[in-house]
Amino acid sequence: MENLLLHICCAGCLCAPLEELRKEGLHVHGYFYNPNIHPLLEFRRRLKAVRIFQESDPIKVNYCEEYGLSEYLDEVDYKGDNRCGDCYRLRLSVTARYAKDQGFDAFCSTLLFSEHQDHEQVKRIGCQVSEQVGIPFEYRDYRHLCDCSRKIASKKMLYKQSYCGCIFSEFERYKDTTRHVYEGWKIEKQ
Ligand code: SF4
Ligand code: SF4
Repeated sequence: MENLLLHICCAGCLCAPLEELRKEGLHVHGYFYNPNIHPLLEFRRRLKAVRIFQESDPIKVNYCEEYGLSEYLDEVDYKGDNRCGDCYRLRLSVTARYAKDQGFDAFCSTLLFSEHQDHEQVKRIGCQVSEQVGIPFEYRDYRHLCDCSRKIASKKMLYKQSYCGCIFSEFERYKDTTRHVYEGWKIEKQ
Protein backbone atom coordinates (compact mmCIF):
# COMPACT_ATOMS: atom_id res chain seq x y z
CA MET A 1 0.00 0.00 0.00
CA GLU A 2 1.31 3.45 -0.89
CA ASN A 3 1.86 5.79 2.04
CA LEU A 4 0.63 9.27 1.20
CA LEU A 5 1.38 12.42 3.19
CA LEU A 6 -1.60 14.75 2.80
CA HIS A 7 -1.09 18.41 3.57
CA ILE A 8 -4.23 19.59 5.42
CA CYS A 9 -5.13 23.26 5.92
CA CYS A 10 -8.35 22.71 7.86
CA ALA A 11 -11.06 20.08 7.97
CA GLY A 12 -13.35 21.78 5.43
CA CYS A 13 -12.17 20.08 2.24
CA LEU A 14 -10.88 16.91 3.82
CA CYS A 15 -13.94 14.79 4.63
CA ALA A 16 -15.11 13.35 1.30
CA PRO A 17 -11.78 13.17 -0.62
CA LEU A 18 -10.16 11.29 2.24
CA GLU A 19 -12.59 8.42 1.68
CA GLU A 20 -11.87 8.45 -2.06
CA LEU A 21 -8.13 8.24 -1.47
CA ARG A 22 -8.66 5.31 0.88
CA LYS A 23 -10.86 3.56 -1.68
CA GLU A 24 -7.88 3.74 -4.04
CA GLY A 25 -5.92 1.77 -1.47
CA LEU A 26 -3.77 4.66 -0.28
CA HIS A 27 -2.73 4.86 3.34
CA VAL A 28 -3.22 8.55 4.19
CA HIS A 29 -1.30 10.40 6.89
CA GLY A 30 -2.09 14.08 7.53
CA TYR A 31 0.33 16.98 7.88
CA PHE A 32 -0.81 20.33 9.27
CA TYR A 33 1.62 23.04 8.24
CA ASN A 34 -0.01 26.42 7.61
CA PRO A 35 1.99 29.53 8.50
CA ASN A 36 -0.48 31.43 6.29
CA ILE A 37 -3.36 31.24 8.78
CA HIS A 38 -3.81 34.45 10.76
CA PRO A 39 -4.45 35.74 13.31
CA LEU A 40 -3.41 33.42 16.12
CA LEU A 41 -6.89 32.48 17.34
CA GLU A 42 -7.97 31.58 13.80
CA PHE A 43 -4.87 29.41 13.45
CA ARG A 44 -5.78 27.61 16.66
CA ARG A 45 -9.40 27.14 15.55
CA ARG A 46 -8.41 25.46 12.29
CA LEU A 47 -5.83 23.28 13.97
CA LYS A 48 -8.43 22.28 16.55
CA ALA A 49 -10.93 21.48 13.78
CA VAL A 50 -8.53 18.85 12.46
CA ARG A 51 -8.07 17.41 15.94
CA ILE A 52 -11.85 17.21 16.35
CA PHE A 53 -12.08 15.51 12.94
CA GLN A 54 -9.64 12.89 14.25
CA GLU A 55 -12.02 12.03 17.08
CA SER A 56 -14.28 10.29 14.55
CA ASP A 57 -11.69 9.20 11.99
CA PRO A 58 -8.58 7.01 12.35
CA ILE A 59 -6.30 9.35 10.34
CA LYS A 60 -2.98 10.14 11.99
CA VAL A 61 -1.79 13.73 11.69
CA ASN A 62 1.47 15.51 12.45
CA TYR A 63 1.03 19.14 13.44
CA CYS A 64 3.32 22.13 13.11
CA GLU A 65 1.77 23.93 16.04
CA GLU A 66 3.93 27.00 15.97
CA TYR A 67 2.11 30.12 14.80
CA GLY A 68 3.92 31.04 11.57
CA LEU A 69 3.12 34.70 10.96
CA SER A 70 6.80 35.77 10.77
CA GLU A 71 7.70 32.80 8.62
CA TYR A 72 4.86 33.63 6.22
CA LEU A 73 5.87 37.31 6.00
CA ASP A 74 9.53 36.34 5.43
CA GLU A 75 8.79 33.81 2.69
CA VAL A 76 5.83 35.28 0.82
CA ASP A 77 6.05 38.38 -1.36
CA TYR A 78 2.78 39.66 0.02
CA LYS A 79 3.10 42.98 -1.77
CA GLY A 80 3.55 41.31 -5.16
CA ASP A 81 1.07 39.89 -7.66
CA ASN A 82 1.72 36.29 -6.84
CA ARG A 83 1.13 36.15 -3.12
CA CYS A 84 -0.90 32.94 -3.35
CA GLY A 85 1.69 31.25 -5.56
CA ASP A 86 4.39 31.96 -2.97
CA CYS A 87 2.09 30.73 -0.23
CA TYR A 88 1.33 27.46 -2.06
CA ARG A 89 5.02 26.96 -2.76
CA LEU A 90 5.98 27.46 0.87
CA ARG A 91 3.44 24.97 2.16
CA LEU A 92 3.95 22.38 -0.56
CA SER A 93 7.76 22.56 -0.34
CA VAL A 94 7.81 22.00 3.40
CA THR A 95 5.28 19.17 3.02
CA ALA A 96 7.29 17.51 0.25
CA ARG A 97 10.54 17.72 2.23
CA TYR A 98 8.86 16.33 5.32
CA ALA A 99 7.34 13.49 3.26
CA LYS A 100 10.74 12.62 1.83
CA ASP A 101 12.54 12.79 5.18
CA GLN A 102 9.92 10.61 6.85
CA GLY A 103 9.90 7.95 4.13
CA PHE A 104 6.44 8.57 2.61
CA ASP A 105 5.91 7.46 -1.00
CA ALA A 106 4.19 10.66 -2.18
CA PHE A 107 2.51 13.88 -1.07
CA CYS A 108 -0.71 15.72 -1.86
CA SER A 109 -2.71 18.67 -0.45
CA THR A 110 -6.29 19.53 0.44
CA LEU A 111 -5.65 22.76 -1.50
CA LEU A 112 -6.44 20.66 -4.59
CA PHE A 113 -9.86 19.79 -3.20
CA SER A 114 -11.16 23.35 -2.80
CA GLU A 115 -13.25 25.33 -5.30
CA HIS A 116 -11.77 28.54 -3.90
CA GLN A 117 -8.08 27.93 -4.56
CA ASP A 118 -6.27 28.46 -7.85
CA HIS A 119 -6.34 24.78 -8.77
CA GLU A 120 -4.09 24.97 -11.83
CA GLN A 121 -1.48 26.93 -9.90
CA VAL A 122 -1.51 24.46 -7.00
CA LYS A 123 -1.11 21.64 -9.52
CA ARG A 124 1.76 23.33 -11.34
CA ILE A 125 3.63 24.22 -8.14
CA GLY A 126 3.04 20.74 -6.71
CA CYS A 127 4.66 19.20 -9.80
CA GLN A 128 7.62 21.62 -9.66
CA VAL A 129 8.20 20.97 -5.96
CA SER A 130 7.96 17.24 -6.60
CA GLU A 131 10.82 17.43 -9.12
CA GLN A 132 12.94 19.68 -6.89
CA VAL A 133 12.55 17.54 -3.79
CA GLY A 134 12.47 14.18 -5.56
CA ILE A 135 9.18 12.72 -4.34
CA PRO A 136 5.99 12.07 -6.36
CA PHE A 137 3.08 14.50 -6.18
CA GLU A 138 -0.24 12.62 -6.16
CA TYR A 139 -2.35 15.04 -8.14
CA ARG A 140 -6.12 14.70 -7.64
CA ASP A 141 -9.03 16.93 -8.57
CA TYR A 142 -11.78 16.42 -5.99
CA ARG A 143 -13.44 19.80 -6.36
CA HIS A 144 -16.70 18.08 -7.30
CA LEU A 145 -16.77 16.67 -3.74
CA CYS A 146 -16.82 20.09 -2.07
CA ASP A 147 -20.55 20.01 -1.32
CA CYS A 148 -20.30 16.53 0.08
CA SER A 149 -17.36 17.56 2.30
CA ARG A 150 -19.27 20.59 3.52
CA LYS A 151 -22.24 18.43 4.50
CA ILE A 152 -20.07 15.94 6.38
CA ALA A 153 -18.16 18.75 8.10
CA SER A 154 -21.39 20.40 9.16
CA LYS A 155 -22.78 17.09 10.48
CA LYS A 156 -19.61 16.63 12.52
CA MET A 157 -20.01 20.26 13.69
CA LEU A 158 -16.50 21.12 12.52
CA TYR A 159 -15.35 24.71 12.48
CA LYS A 160 -16.01 26.38 9.12
CA GLN A 161 -13.55 29.08 8.15
CA SER A 162 -14.85 32.16 6.32
CA TYR A 163 -11.70 33.39 4.58
CA CYS A 164 -8.73 31.72 2.98
CA GLY A 165 -6.19 32.24 5.76
CA CYS A 166 -3.80 35.19 5.65
CA ILE A 167 -4.49 38.64 7.05
CA PHE A 168 -4.79 39.91 3.47
CA SER A 169 -7.56 37.45 2.62
CA GLU A 170 -9.31 38.37 5.85
CA PHE A 171 -9.22 42.01 4.78
CA GLU A 172 -10.55 41.15 1.31
CA ARG A 173 -13.35 39.12 2.86
CA TYR A 174 -14.60 41.76 5.26
CA LYS A 175 -13.55 45.13 3.88
CA ASP A 176 -16.98 45.91 2.46
CA THR A 177 -19.06 44.94 5.46
CA THR A 178 -19.50 46.02 9.05
CA ARG A 179 -22.01 43.25 9.75
CA HIS A 180 -19.52 41.03 11.62
CA VAL A 181 -18.20 43.77 13.86
CA TYR A 182 -20.75 43.21 16.57
CA GLU A 183 -21.03 39.41 16.35
CA GLY A 184 -19.98 37.64 19.50
CA TRP A 185 -19.76 40.82 21.57
CA LYS A 186 -21.11 40.68 25.07
CA ILE A 187 -22.06 43.76 26.99
CA GLU A 188 -20.40 43.44 30.38
CA LYS A 189 -22.46 44.63 33.32
CA GLN A 190 -20.63 47.31 35.29
S1 SF4 B 1 -8.62 24.95 1.09
FE1 SF4 B 1 -9.63 26.25 2.63
S2 SF4 B 1 -11.49 25.12 3.27
FE2 SF4 B 1 -10.15 23.71 2.17
S3 SF4 B 1 -9.02 22.64 3.76
FE3 SF4 B 1 -7.76 24.41 3.07
S4 SF4 B 1 -8.30 26.13 4.42
FE4 SF4 B 1 -9.86 24.52 4.67
S1 SF4 C 1 -5.20 34.20 0.11
FE1 SF4 C 1 -4.86 32.10 0.85
S2 SF4 C 1 -3.50 31.12 -0.62
FE2 SF4 C 1 -3.40 33.34 -0.95
S3 SF4 C 1 -1.66 34.03 0.30
FE3 SF4 C 1 -3.49 34.24 1.56
S4 SF4 C 1 -3.64 32.31 2.69
FE4 SF4 C 1 -2.23 31.98 1.02
